Amino acid sequence: MQWTPGGTSGDIEDRRDSSGGGFGGGGLGGRHIGIGGFLLLLVLSLIFKQNLLTLFSGGPAPAPNVGSANRAQDEAERPEVQFLSFVLDDVQNTWDQIFAQQGQVYRHAKLVLYRDETQSGCGGAESATGPFYCPEDEKVYLDLGFFDELKNRFGAPGEFAQAYVLAHEIGHHVQKLLGIEQRISRLQQSHPGERNRLSVDLELQADCFAGVWGHSTEQRKIIDQSDIAAGLRAAAAVGDDRLQKMATGRVAPDSFTHGTSAQRTDWFQRGLTSGDIGACDTSQAATEDPLAKAAMRRPDPETVWPPDADATPKPGTLP
Ligand SMILES: [Zn+2]
Repeated sequence: MQWTPGGTSGDIEDRRDSSGGGFGGGGLGGRHIGIGGFLLLLVLSLIFKQNLLTLFSGGPAPAPNVGSANRAQDEAERPEVQFLSFVLDDVQNTWDQIFAQQGQVYRHAKLVLYRDETQSGCGGAESATGPFYCPEDEKVYLDLGFFDELKNRFGAPGEFAQAYVLAHEIGHHVQKLLGIEQRISRLQQSHPGERNRLSVDLELQADCFAGVWGHSTEQRKIIDQSDIAAGLRAAAAVGDDRLQKMATGRVAPDSFTHGTSAQRTDWFQRGLTSGDIGACDTSQAATEDPLAKAAMRRPDPETVWPPDADATPKPGTLP
């Protein structure tokens, strides 16, 4: 990929050195007791004739398993962060333009970089979960360690493979802005039996949206055929295998499926070739459900914009 290292994107929220404020870190785990707790323990100590206060003062402080700053690692990751900054800005600038062509405004998503674990608007996030988008807070969560896994475990190295992953997650954000995510979410609630199939539709469309961005980069000579090949490998690699692992995570709904590798590369390619979100109606191929077809159809400016105000998507995440 042709790109020039720059600064850190304004849309990146760097929590790598403050991860873990989320679960387990605070409250009693920190063994800080307030004055109320102190008095309660004092009373209980008198009742049980034991000095219960030692429980909280004598023992060694719990080792902070998270949240320890690792500047050396930050430094090592600097090129990766610069690259992700470039991709994030480029992807979102592309969506700025696509939305503007419809006379609409694209609202930027944030990319949260974390290490080990953090808290999201959709619940706890940890490395094993893999990258995901949370519609509740409109943020993409990513532990950079995932890219090592992408390379080593899934055999998808290359800058564009990483770019594809990020563009796919931003694709989920676009789905939220277009009201598609909310409609599919409602359908999943009313048609539990269709849950997985609807999820596949959504995932494949995010792949297609990533391809739409890819089309734009191709036009601007940022990527070449070898990059595209890397992107396609990534699309094939992060399929259901990855999901099986994610199913064991705390955040990702276990019912998600992403479609086969062939489907994923196919839809990525469709976006890439056409550069048109209208080519991303995945329901035509992936489901026979007419309701889903309506939900996935190319956004109609009158009904879709502004994004559904009264939509109340259930808390959930999109891997
Ligand atoms: Zn996804």
